[in-house]
Amino acid sequence: MIIQFKQYDSVTRRRIKQIQQLAAKQQVGCYLVGGFVRDALLRIKSTDLDVIVDGDAMALARAFAREHNGKVTVYPDFLTATVSWDQAGSLDFTTARQEIYKKPGALPRVKQGDLRADLFRRDFTVNAMALQLTSSSRGTLIDHYGGMDDLRCGRIRILHDQSFKDDPTRMIRAVRYEQRLGFQMHRSTLQCLNKSVRQGALRTISLDRYITEIKKVGSEFKAPEMIGRMRRLALFHRLVGTAAISKARIHRIQQRYQRLNESARSEAGECWVIYLIELLRNVSTARRQELMKCSILSKGQKQAITQFAKCKLETKVVLKQKKMKPSQVFVLLKDNSSLLVWHAYLSTASAILKDNLESYWNAWNVKLKIDGHDLNRMGLSQGRQVGAMLEQLKMKKMDGEIKSKSDELKLARELIKQELGASNE
Ligand code: ATP
Repeated sequence: MIIQFKQYDSVTRRRIKQIQQLAAKQQVGCYLVGGFVRDALLRIKSTDLDVIVDGDAMALARAFAREHNGKVTVYPDFLTATVSWDQAGSLDFTTARQEIYKKPGALPRVKQGDLRADLFRRDFTVNAMALQLTSSSRGTLIDHYGGMDDLRCGRIRILHDQSFKDDPTRMIRAVRYEQRLGFQMHRSTLQCLNKSVRQGALRTISLDRYITEIKKVGSEFKAPEMIGRMRRLALFHRLVGTAAISKARIHRIQQRYQRLNESARSEAGECWVIYLIELLRNVSTARRQELMKCSILSKGQKQAITQFAKCKLETKVVLKQKKMKPSQVFVLLKDNSSLLVWHAYLSTASAILKDNLESYWNAWNVKLKIDGHDLNRMGLSQGRQVGAMLEQLKMKKMDGEIKSKSDELKLARELIKQELGASNE
């Protein structure tokens, strides 16, 4: 079977051609693999090229960077090199390799192998196909493990029975692809998954690796569906310990948090933390503290999780009672994590609360047209006083009491007069 590259944009097509030309010149075998091949066969657009080299990937990457003015970074332990461009993304070259799992759940040791071995170490058959890039057979599909057949039947299938034990993160990946592509796990794959869950395979992976997978799930379009499936398959035990996640909680998540990654809010890139906050509702303090040690969570994300546990947004009660002035809402909430505020917005049915939170967000965008120098010229000299006065003016602007620059100057003059008058008395 030959795959045409016509469906891709010109940048991707050009890159593929460049790789192919260099590989021919250097006489090394080069292949596109993984998600790009799967998506190409499904006619889903994808630009992430993953290149496997039957030989020294680092040498090929260096040559590619030289020819096309890229910057190369090598990772010798992983036999990988990345070529990147300031404006034109990046490209990974990896030497075909095999993996050796010394201990279930631990990261494997990698050593050079051939393409067949490289495809065999992959998670699912649909991700274990390659497209040849050498000139004579450009675009020929290499499918040793029945990936194409599984793709046609909409099946997610592991390559061997030990797969989930070797790397339990694959159980979460299986759910992700199943739901994303509208596929189903193959019967024997599902049996292996259930067996691995019963044997506690997820306990063998670090919390950091587990959360990395949750991050991928929570960033997907169909995250709520994936979370539902993960609960049914008992895949949350590693995260929540003995705390149960009820069906009702999943139902709530599915109703309230749809398509978050498409939201226009600036926090959308971190929408997975919203799901995490919901999943962690009933966990023990000890488990929460353990999570706070995860390096995958940023300071702001940890703050959102902790503040939620302490119900810091309890001020919500006031915010639900009446429409408040934007400046009042701002003062009340400004120390809360922005993710937590977004969570409160998404999870409430109260129109008043939503309204108050919207004016809070708008308040953050309010900027004064005057600055400290203008206040200095009016006679206010101390830094602290200037800062406080600017803050006071901003609050008035948030509430719509002043609008233009001349309004700001006029009010500043009045306030300074009062202030200086008071300090002279
Ligand atoms: P997408 O980015 O669309 O989710 P992808 O297939 O590109 O899909 P990546 O996570 O970028 O996913 O992984 C690239 C490839 O590496 C996969 O297609 C798969 O072949 C392989 N891979 C990734 N993670 C694992 C894993 N845990 N076990 C085995 N193979 C893996």
